[in-house]
Amino acid sequence: MNRFTLERAENVSGAVEAAVSTPAAQFIAGGTNLVDLIKENVARPERLIDVTRLPLNKIENTPGGGLSIGALVTNADAAYNEHVERRYPLLAKAILAGASAQLRNMATTGGNLLQRTRCYYFYDTGTPCNKREPGAGCGALKGYNRIHAILGASEQCIATHPSDMCVAMAALGAIIHMTGPKGQRTLPIADFHRLPGDTPHLDTNIQPGELITAVELPPEDFTRHHAYLKLRDRQSYAFALVSVAAALDLDGTTIREARIALGGVAHKPWRDTEAEALLRGKPATLENFQPVADALLREAKGFGHNTFKIELARRAIVRALAQAAGLEHTP
Ligand SMILES: Cc1cc2nc3c(=O)[nH]c(=O)nc-3n(C[C@H](O)[C@H](O)[C@H](O)COP(=O)(O)OP(=O)(O)OC[C@H]3O[C@@H](n4cnc5c(N)ncnc54)[C@H](O)[C@@H]3O)c2cc1C
Ligand code: SF4
Repeated sequence: MNRFTLERAENVSGAVEAAVSTPAAQFIAGGTNLVDLIKENVARPERLIDVTRLPLNKIENTPGGGLSIGALVTNADAAYNEHVERRYPLLAKAILAGASAQLRNMATTGGNLLQRTRCYYFYDTGTPCNKREPGAGCGALKGYNRIHAILGASEQCIATHPSDMCVAMAALGAIIHMTGPKGQRTLPIADFHRLPGDTPHLDTNIQPGELITAVELPPEDFTRHHAYLKLRDRQSYAFALVSVAAALDLDGTTIREARIALGGVAHKPWRDTEAEALLRGKPATLENFQPVADALLREAKGFGHNTFKIELARRAIVRALAQAAGLEHTP
C-alpha cells in the first residue's frame, strides 16, 4: 500500500480540478472497490479525492420523461427508490442481485459503473496481468479461467466486467453524464465500457479527470415484461457467471421491442441489437427465443475452464426471455 493524501471535494469543478492537477489522483466514493485495490497494491493513487459530499445524490425526473440517478446515489437507495421500482423494476432487481445489503448501502452508482474486474490474476500482483501492467502477459489466458469472458475477448485479456447494475442499464439504454476539464458530455452506456483489444488497461472511455455526475434512463416501457436472471456459484453474495437482463414490450403476445443484455460473459455488458431484432414482430414463444440465444452467442469462444459458460448462457437467455414474457415463473 502506497502513501496518499485524502481530501474532500466541495464542488464538482473543484473535484475535477484536483483530479486533473495530479496524474495519480483518483476519486473515491463508497470505497468498496477502490480500497480493496489499494490494499492489494493494484491501485496506487497519490491523491484521493473524496466526492461523497458533492450534491450528486438525487433521483429526479428528466424533462424528456426519463429518470436521472445521481452518481452518488447508493445502490440501496437506487434499488428502493419508488420511481426506480415502479418505472425501471429491471434495474432495481439487477442491483439487488449484486453484493450484500451492507455493500449496497455504501456502493454508489458512479463507483459501480467503474468497478474493476474480479479476475483473480488482476488482484494478485505476483502474477502477470496486462490490465494491471501493460505488456506483462495474461495469467488467465492459459491459467484458471472459469469466470472469464466468452465474448469480445482478445489475446491480451479475457476478463469480464462484474457489475449487475450495468447489465440492466445496458438493456435500458442508459446515458452516462460526465463533467471533465473540457466541460460536460454524455456517452451511451454501450460506448462507455470498452472491449480489451490491445489496451486492456483501459476499462472505459472516461477521460482523465472526468467525474461521472449522473446516469439518465430513457423513458422506455419495460415495466411489465422483464427479468434479471443471475447464475452464480452461490445464491447470494457472489458475482455472476452469467447474467441476463431481458425486457420485452408486448402487444398481446407479439413482441414490439426486445432488449437483452448479458453480464459475466465479456469485458463490458454485452448487447447485440441485430440479435434483438430477430424477435421484433414475432410471438413470444420458446421456439422464437432459441435462435436469438444462438445469434447472441454465435461468436462465443471458451478458454478451457470457462467453456461451459457458452451453453449456460444459451439456456439463461431463453429462460430469462421466458420469464420476461410470463411463460415461466420469475422467482
Ligand atoms: C465482496 C464484494 C462483493 C460484490 N458483489 C457484487 C455483485 O455481485 N455485483 C455487483 O455489481 N457488484 C458487486 N460488488 C461491487 C460493488 O458493487 C462495487 O464495489 C461498488 O459498486 C463500487 O462503488 P463505490 O462507490 O464503492 O466505488 P469506489 O470503490 O469508491 O470507486 C470505484 C471506482 O470508481 C471511481 N469513481 C467512483 N465514483 C466516481 C465518479 N462519480 N466519477 C468518476 N469516478 C468515480 C473511483 O475512482 C474508482 O476507480 C461487490 C463488491 C464486494 C467488495
Ligand atoms: S484476463 Fe485480463 S485482467 Fe485477467 S490476467 Fe489476463 S490481462 Fe489481467
